[in-house]
Amino acid sequence: MTARRLDGTLVARQIQEELRPSLETLRARGLRPGLGVLLVGDDPASAVYVRSKTKRSEELGLFHETCRLPATASTAEVLAAVEAFNRRPEVHGILVQLPLPKQVDAQRVLDHVRPDKDVDGFHPTNVGLLVQKRPRFVACTPAGIMELLKRNQIELAGQRAVVLGRSEIVGKPMALLLLHADATVTVCHSRTRDLEAVTREADVLVAAIGRAGLVRGAHVKPGAVVVDVGMNRVSDPALARELVEPERLAEFDKRGYALVGDVHAGEVAAVAGALTPVPGGVGPLTIAMLMANTVRAALNAG
Ligand code: NAP
Repeated sequence: MTARRLDGTLVARQIQEELRPSLETLRARGLRPGLGVLLVGDDPASAVYVRSKTKRSEELGLFHETCRLPATASTAEVLAAVEAFNRRPEVHGILVQLPLPKQVDAQRVLDHVRPDKDVDGFHPTNVGLLVQKRPRFVACTPAGIMELLKRNQIELAGQRAVVLGRSEIVGKPMALLLLHADATVTVCHSRTRDLEAVTREADVLVAAIGRAGLVRGAHVKPGAVVVDVGMNRVSDPALARELVEPERLAEFDKRGYALVGDVHAGEVAAVAGALTPVPGGVGPLTIAMLMANTVRAALNAG
């Protein structure tokens, strides 16, 4: 069997196009949705993610502004930058690019984002609303995955879903969304015993662990739907030859690294019924949901 490819780029484009009528409504009210981005330090991957998000904002005609702080910034300085965005009426959504430098208290920073501008859905108020199944802003990656599953007619009610990873930004909200869609959900983490036996139960398996190619064919039930959230930079040539598709190897040779998922795509595609690619799977959906949340924040404000 070769798994069906679940195309995140396609669904992301659909989600963005569906925002056009709301953007027109806002324009008629003289409003332009605005995204405030906070980038602290000079992590190259973060800079790439921020560029993709601001580029997408431009394509949709959103206002955006990036506040850059040095890697040495203190918690107080980062809090002040958040506060400035909190007060700006033209900024409807605030994105704090993670990870923050070690000396910064990330929890305090995320807690300081105004809940009605928290388009990443990380504020405890928005997390609490999600837990109670009355979501306002939901973390973009799991929200995007739900759109991908829905738009590919993947049934969730009564299905066994396994989420690999329990982070605040992916694993936990993912598990809640699947539960609210009536799946029977199991969450696995680094202390889970006999991981393969648990993941092999899954009709729907979401891998969000940050370990290149950890999910092998033996982890997957034949015919399962597998969503690969992982975005791992691989620079070891031997590992790259194992995990990167042949057509991307020239790119690896040029750059000296390639992005791969948590799923060993070569093995898993032979077992699963459907699989998201990396890149072109979950990544574009995350950005599309950020745009959707920012437009919604503007609609709520106006
Ligand atoms: P994270 O905060 O590092 O959490 C990783 C989770 O995986 C933890 O719960 C950890 O368990 C678990 N884990 C680690 N190694 C494991 C193992 N060997 N077996 C079982 N569980 C294991 O990571 P994250 O922020 O959720 O991100 C996960 C991945 O998704 C990363 O590659 C990240 O780059 C990617 N990501 C992609 C997008 C996107 O838009 N495509 C968005 C966000 C994240 P413990 O809790 O026990 O430590």
